[in-house]
Amino acid sequence: MTKFVLLGLVIWLAIYVLKRMVNKSNSQPSNTPAPSDTEAENMVQCATCKVHLPRSEAFLVNSNFYCSKAHIPNS
Ligand SMILES: [Zn+2]
Repeated sequence: MTKFVLLGLVIWLAIYVLKRMVNKSNSQPSNTPAPSDTEAENMVQCATCKVHLPRSEAFLVNSNFYCSKAHIPNS
């Protein structure tokens, strides 16, 4: 009976460690921007000059962000 309790404890510990690792890797997004609200202000990148700026100040054209109207390519 003690073995089952010990086994459950080991499984719980494994899940606990795995969850912590997943949370750590999630805090550093690679190339897919998270659409959810974060504690920091959402930063976006200008598609023309690659500068980072707050999303509230960016221009959204054809699902691309631009820092200024001058950087929006004319279609
Ligand atoms: Zn720009």
